[in-house]
Amino acid sequence: MEARLTFLGTGTSMGVPTLGCGCAVCTSADTRDRRLRPSVALRWQDGERERVVVIDTGPDFREQALRAQIRYVDAVFYTHAHADHILGMDDLRPLSFAAFRNGGRIPLYASNETAAVLERIYDYTFAPATTYTNRAKVEIVALEDRMRVHGVEFVRVPVMHGSMEVSGFRFGDAAYLTDVSAIPEESFGLLEGLETLVLPSLRHTPHPSHATLKQAIAWAERIGAKQTWLTHIAHELGHEETNRMLPAGVAMGYDGLEVAVTLPDGVGQGAA
Ligand SMILES: [Zn+2]
Ligand SMILES: [Zn+2]
Repeated sequence: MEARLTFLGTGTSMGVPTLGCGCAVCTSADTRDRRLRPSVALRWQDGERERVVVIDTGPDFREQALRAQIRYVDAVFYTHAHADHILGMDDLRPLSFAAFRNGGRIPLYASNETAAVLERIYDYTFAPATTYTNRAKVEIVALEDRMRVHGVEFVRVPVMHGSMEVSGFRFGDAAYLTDVSAIPEESFGLLEGLETLVLPSLRHTPHPSHATLKQAIAWAERIGAKQTWLTHIAHELGHEETNRMLPAGVAMGYDGLEVAVTLPDGVGQGAA
């Protein structure tokens, strides 16, 4: 079963162009140098309808969903609760109303730490006593090692983001990791045999909670996916010039990029 992975955003937390910056990348005419906050959507045909799973809903989610023609969302997976990954959650409202006219809620898969932040920021959505009638029809579902959404297995891949453990996800022959400064030894075992890998690459200079380009390339080579795409990219890295210096099998991601992902047999039969 063929699915497609859409890069909704490939920028770092501040986005590119970065507000107030006049650097060469921020003023570049190359549209691939315009990066919204990091997120991807996995879409596959399931009988009559398309299934859509989004990883993270950052502050640009509304614009990204419009651009990618996302008209419903079956589930959201959250990597962690930093602003660039969660602040678009409220824009699930219209999608959640449309998708579940007969009741039901969009599951938001989140760790306990992420859930606590979501519940605090969006107390008008999650508080049991809320009287806000237009709240998103969503429900938090605890992350597990392995989860299933309409027949597709999502495997949680724990990684370190500074001193904080965050989640990456593997689905079919692809995996998505963002905001990573270290990959625990056990997690490499969850990343074997990949066709497609998404890894973060912030910039050249070291950062306490993000990978440099050099680190990302080293991980890409060790994991050995057929193709590795880079994301969570800051304005230090221009698309064209950086892409030219990457080894074979590693390339800069860009907003709007779509790659094919193979899901296991049996997916897409239209079963619930
Ligand atoms: Zn981030
Ligand atoms: Zn800049």
